[in-house]
Amino acid sequence: MNFINTFAGLPETFYTRLLATPLINPRLVALSASAASLLDLKDKPSLRDELTAVCSGNANWISAEPLAMVYSGHQFGVYNPQLGDGRGLLLGEVRNACGEKWDLHLKGAGKTPYSRFGDGRAVLRSCVREYLCSEAMHHLTIPTTRALCVVASDTPVYRETEEAGSTLLRLAKTHIRFGHFEYFSYTNQLDSLKTLTDYTIKHCFPHLLQAGDRYRLFFKEVLEKTARLIACWQSVGFAHGVMNTDNMSIVGETFDYGPFGFMDKFDWHYICNHSDHQGRYAFSQQPDIGYWNCGRLGSALLPLFNNNAEAIQTTLDQFPGSYSSYYTRLMRQKLGLLIPEDEDPELIRELLAALQKCGCDYTLFFRALCDFVAGKDNEKLLKVIGGSAMTGWLQQYSQRLKRNLVDDTRRCQQMKTVNPKFILRNYLAQQAIEHAEQGDFSEINRLMTVLETPFDEHPDYESYAEPPPLWASGLKVSCSS
Ligand code: AMP
Ligand code: MG
Repeated sequence: MNFINTFAGLPETFYTRLLATPLINPRLVALSASAASLLDLKDKPSLRDELTAVCSGNANWISAEPLAMVYSGHQFGVYNPQLGDGRGLLLGEVRNACGEKWDLHLKGAGKTPYSRFGDGRAVLRSCVREYLCSEAMHHLTIPTTRALCVVASDTPVYRETEEAGSTLLRLAKTHIRFGHFEYFSYTNQLDSLKTLTDYTIKHCFPHLLQAGDRYRLFFKEVLEKTARLIACWQSVGFAHGVMNTDNMSIVGETFDYGPFGFMDKFDWHYICNHSDHQGRYAFSQQPDIGYWNCGRLGSALLPLFNNNAEAIQTTLDQFPGSYSSYYTRLMRQKLGLLIPEDEDPELIRELLAALQKCGCDYTLFFRALCDFVAGKDNEKLLKVIGGSAMTGWLQQYSQRLKRNLVDDTRRCQQMKTVNPKFILRNYLAQQAIEHAEQGDFSEINRLMTVLETPFDEHPDYESYAEPPPLWASGLKVSCSS
């Protein structure tokens, strides 16, 4: 691989150089061929051996310059002045044959100067969850970091119990977070803040390089990308769980997978992070938190705007409108509404209210709605709904479809390209993890088969589309990852 290490070319105040701490007896748990192709790599035994050695810290790529990045961030609304890569390393950057630059980041690589009280490690279950979910999100067409591979080992790591020290090799367009800007701004390193912003524009927003007001345009684009990302999450029923500003990617990708969750039953107040007692990061809060986080980024960028808070606020004010327009567009697609009408947002609001009352499975509802035909018995849909809670809304929908000027067959086809049949339900991830912890990694690959083509039918894997079985109804995801 051909490393270019542009971040390592920045001044030393941006990072600490160091190597990964080796893991004992490493083995490759999973490798995403789809992610490998981004680096022009093919899944073959020699690649597997190379990744096992590098991802366990037992070998290094000669031209890579590994480093831990420094950043800070607002965690649960409170500013934490010093965070940084406490258990991950940016191994380096690679440019592929198409000219795209990819960061290679090893999560679980051992202690760094930013580890604080942590052990620098990651456990198998959290690596498997990030691996499955980041690949699943990509195939749902939601912006996200990618996962190249997971490696497990015999190095013990202590959480609630002893677990297997593991690593995940993450690919991303950049690992720069909102928190990077906060760090340089609030430590008053204003030259570095400018260097960071210019670097980010050069590598991630190159079309803005020549613009006179490029800092404003940069902030505006970050806002738009963030609004769009959160609209994607809301449309698919995904909760991130820890939307701290250090987990917000500057290029608007889903970033740092922790106690995330896809909703099974629709619940507007869904909280996937069991340590989030106030529900700060509940599903319903995500758009507001996205806006708040952009506000924190705006404050950090103030020195680049001659401390003109009004200029920041004017741009920031565009967030709610931008979010709503992305969200409405996505929901219209989910509902098969090909010709927009002004009243659609109201129809969507009423749908969410009806779903909240009904409490049916969010994903299955939309998938069954694809086959809805007004005036027919719609048996499959009614089975998903399980009662009369949606009758009123379905009547409204029938009326709305009359003005849609598209036949049911075409509408159904279009809807099935945006309403997934398969999502990464918590219980499915849990099953794959339990097998993996016993040394059987095959369930991860089976699950990945449906997650890679979530809009297709998979007759051999029908059960993966099912809502959680009874045993999984109280399943809690541990936040200690
Ligand atoms: P997260 O909640 O995973 O986004 O992490 C928040 C901060 O804690 C980041 O600076 C991480 O690098 C750090 N961190 C999380 N887990 C560990 C760990 N096991 N060891 C060291 N640092 C960690
Ligand atoms: Mg994080």
